[in-house]
Amino acid sequence: MLINSAWCLVHDSNSIVAKILKAKYFPSTSLWTAPAYVPKSAFWASILSIRHHLENHVTIQLIEGNTSIWNQPWCPIWKEMHARLNLEQNEYLIPSKVSELWITNSKMWDTNKIITLFGQQTLNILLQIHPIAGNGPDILCWKPASNGICSSKSAYRVLATEETMTRPPAGVPLQVVQILRGVWADKTIQPRVKTFAWRLLRLALGTASRVHRIISAINENCSRCGNLEDEKHLFFECSYARAVWFASSIGLRTDALSSSGRGIHTQIATILQQGQSQASAGMIFSIMWCLWKSRNDHRFNNKDWPIARVLHEAKAIDRAYDMGLEEDAISDHNHRIIPNANCVKNFL
Ligand SMILES: [Zn+2]
Repeated sequence: MLINSAWCLVHDSNSIVAKILKAKYFPSTSLWTAPAYVPKSAFWASILSIRHHLENHVTIQLIEGNTSIWNQPWCPIWKEMHARLNLEQNEYLIPSKVSELWITNSKMWDTNKIITLFGQQTLNILLQIHPIAGNGPDILCWKPASNGICSSKSAYRVLATEETMTRPPAGVPLQVVQILRGVWADKTIQPRVKTFAWRLLRLALGTASRVHRIISAINENCSRCGNLEDEKHLFFECSYARAVWFASSIGLRTDALSSSGRGIHTQIATILQQGQSQASAGMIFSIMWCLWKSRNDHRFNNKDWPIARVLHEAKAIDRAYDMGLEEDAISDHNHRIIPNANCVKNFL
């Protein structure tokens, strides 16, 4: 959506918003070259942070050549044009628009002028670019869409293939990505358990130690035992968590789990790799989610869940979706029968 917003700003630069932003953040240049190191609003900061995505996927169709040479993404080397400019020549005035690099009244690149101003290498690159016949201003195009318009949908598709499919986000351990991919693809896991797994593995869960780092008034210790509460403690090391795992159908001794680095993906991967039939990803994350819920109830409502309750709920959550899917299948079947019966009746 941000890419689409940035697109609207460059595509319709006469809109009020575009004019205000230009006046404030880049009065003498363009969105493409607007400086990032200035005090700015959250919106403008967001636009700047995704600007490169837009830039990587746009092209400018040169028709009239009214595009600025210096601050528009009109050729692969547009950002280097300043550096390439030969300031020692005095044969030509410094051009400002692309059409000034064309032979007058044509759309042919003026080879002498380009070589003198920017050098042979630049000319070789520009000769690959073919201006379009016809009249009218140059057109900014979003390359991934056949109509050249950047919609949120199209931008999302581009990012989804680029960012998540081919390259995991920087700084996320491969093991985390692998577990999450497995969880995401598992149709027997409820969406809310998946979301919990995602928050847990991407270190976004509001554990006491994490919240304490932001709000120091919040107690960073486990409400049950008083030790520092991070993921490792909460889900595997606290005696309460250890009792839950040991009593579960997995019968796990969490003190035997190896642990390393930040987060708890190593432990989760170890449990998954042990390959017990009871230790499905769905069951593991259901238990962890119930541990989290019981922790919240203990911390905020002063309620102490018996171990059996954690396991009972986890089991119910893990099984509910399987049964839900079965029920869906049955009701689908019924639905198919009813319209058919009506059809038959209508025919009769
Ligand atoms: Zn504890």
